[in-house]
Amino acid sequence: MSVSPSRLAAISAANNYRTSKTVAFTESHSAGLFGKNVFNDKIMQQRLPKAAYKSLRKTIDTGAVLEAGVLDIVATAIKDWALEHSATHYAHVFQPLTGITAEKHDSFLEPDGRGGAIAEFSGKQLAQGEPDASSFPSGGIRATFEARGYTAWDVTSPCYLIENANGNTLCIPTAFVSWTGEALDLKTPVLRSMKALDQQARRILKLFGHQNIAMITATAGPEQEYFLIDRNFYLNRPDLLTAGRTLFGAKPPKGQEFEDQYFGVIPDRVLAFMHEAEAELYSLGVPVKTRHNEVAPSQYEIAPIYENANIAADHQQLLMITLKRVARKYGLECLLHEKPFAGVNGSGKHLNWSLGNATQGNLLEPGNTPHQNMQFLVFCAAVIRAVHRHGALLRAMVASASNDHRLGANEAPPAIISIFLGEQLADVFEQLKKGKAKTSKAAGTMHLGVDTLPVLMRDAGDRNRTSPFAFTGNKFEYRAVAANQSIAAPLAALNTIMAESLDYIATKLEKTKGKFEDAVQAVLTEIAKEHSAVIFNGNGYSEEWHKEAAKRGLPNLKTTVDAVPVIASKTTVEAYEKFGVLTKRELEARRDIAFEQYVKAVMVEANIVIELVNTKYLPTALRYQTELAQNVAALKAAGAKGDAKLLDKVTKLIGDLHEAMDALVELRGHHAKSLEDEAAHLCHEVLPQLVEIRKTVDALEAVCPDESWPMPTYEEMLFIK
Ligand code: ADP
Ligand code: MG
Repeated sequence: MSVSPSRLAAISAANNYRTSKTVAFTESHSAGLFGKNVFNDKIMQQRLPKAAYKSLRKTIDTGAVLEAGVLDIVATAIKDWALEHSATHYAHVFQPLTGITAEKHDSFLEPDGRGGAIAEFSGKQLAQGEPDASSFPSGGIRATFEARGYTAWDVTSPCYLIENANGNTLCIPTAFVSWTGEALDLKTPVLRSMKALDQQARRILKLFGHQNIAMITATAGPEQEYFLIDRNFYLNRPDLLTAGRTLFGAKPPKGQEFEDQYFGVIPDRVLAFMHEAEAELYSLGVPVKTRHNEVAPSQYEIAPIYENANIAADHQQLLMITLKRVARKYGLECLLHEKPFAGVNGSGKHLNWSLGNATQGNLLEPGNTPHQNMQFLVFCAAVIRAVHRHGALLRAMVASASNDHRLGANEAPPAIISIFLGEQLADVFEQLKKGKAKTSKAAGTMHLGVDTLPVLMRDAGDRNRTSPFAFTGNKFEYRAVAANQSIAAPLAALNTIMAESLDYIATKLEKTKGKFEDAVQAVLTEIAKEHSAVIFNGNGYSEEWHKEAAKRGLPNLKTTVDAVPVIASKTTVEAYEKFGVLTKRELEARRDIAFEQYVKAVMVEANIVIELVNTKYLPTALRYQTELAQNVAALKAAGAKGDAKLLDKVTKLIGDLHEAMDALVELRGHHAKSLEDEAAHLCHEVLPQLVEIRKTVDALEAVCPDESWPMPTYEEMLFIK
């Protein structure tokens, strides 16, 4: 029996890896490093003439249109700064509907007509680019023959430099639209929804007597989970390489059941990687703060300090790219797939979200006695109403083939969108149902019985890990977001449905003739009565909750195929169109693209399964079968009692595998009438068949000789660090 040389080489390479010091984070940490590669406010102030700076600042702070003439001045300042920092090219960076980051690079240099070249960069080049739109998904908005698309500079998100050993690139965050003006990206709706949110929140604040209100922005702080495995194993796993997840792999003798990984000591190589990734993110102005081991073996988390939601969304993209890039320098591969390994936890992204501004602070800050904080209660009630009305949309915004493996498994929030309010607030809303809220359950202190330990402040309520949408003190945490996805679409949805609820409340309150307090009271009671069904403080993983949620009429959209149509449902279209976030046509395009992406993802998996079984697993099993058969024959010939038990077992598994593969090949050939039908077919027929095949292959892995097994095992990938 031949030994699989690539597997042994991978193990040996992983074992021999030595980290060397590449960044002296200790020397450059903190102030000097942060934002080093960003054309930020400080640099703007230094480099722009006063009037131009003021004008640009006004656009950033209030959303006003940038004044004519300013653009060229800003462009020149950015160019000079970039050239001084070894930039050779500039790139409009945008987020097409594939969810990845796209960039088109242009050189600063242009021929001067006399045989030389000069560095050119005009206001127009800063503000507008023209990538070919036909190569990005448009959901039918653009045909390939009408290819024109534009990128437009997002003034509110700072430009930055991406460093490379051979030269730096100036990156300009942009929105991406078609020649006909339709959004073809994820940023445009975020910007539009931020504007809507500002306008509606402002109406409420005005009613509460505030004046000179600064622009209200949504804030976001996304916590990112990811896996790191030795790259040698990764390169030996075509399924990880192509589909992002393992489609095969027997359960290792040890998984995560010892709970010895979460918050455990971070392995040396991983820590070195984190230092460098964080240093790079720091220099890009991404305020990363927290790092720790996660629950599954080889799983980690990184979280930034929250920011303006639009910038947080851009930074989140940078963060994912940086993790992947830096990991490779350390011989590691960063896996962002939601479920790279069956049997251990998958990865998500907790999207912490709130709204506020510099003058009013965080509008979801309850204070110590929330029952008396009417303004807070209005904003909180608006969230409750929004999530109750649009729970299905929030589910759809995180729907993907990969996230389906996570949502609803007992590790991540269920596909049913409910709100965890915590004991204190849930109690206030219970009181509101019946009229005025009179008390708030108090927070307290905790004495630990040892005088040298400090007295701890105890929060008014415990935490809940199972809720998809939890109030966590002064923000909501949307936990169903997928590890690998941009936070832009979920953010835009939150902002839009919040704007809709604030509009609803403001319209009611503006109309009242009587006492303002009574009107607020009435609308709070109305919302508490009508929308409390979405509040659930119990165990979201439990069977009872699924039954209870059905009784309450909460949608339970189990798969992407069930959820995606909501993107263009009547309720969604009404909300998005009312606030100018996306049109019906734009939403329908997004729905179709979501189906398309789903179909492609599952198809690729089916293709890999077929390839791997035919070229790796089946040949391995057949060789072993032959060996066993020869063994039995030899024993018989020698007159000994040959035991064919193992041979029979392997033969049976090979038979099963052939049968299951025939079925898969037939299923793959299915012709559906529409994209939606195709998605449903893949979801309900093809995916279960992949599971069937996997079971058989995993059973073979458990009996075939280890040294013959052609691919790295779960044990190797998850535990050799
Ligand atoms: P945990 O989820 O463990 O309670 P934290 O309280 O530190 O952790 O917060 C987690 C994330 O929430 C961080 O990224 C943090 O910046 C973010 N966050 C905190 N306050 C806000 C806010 N007002 N708006 C949006 N995100 C916030
Ligand atoms: Mg959290």
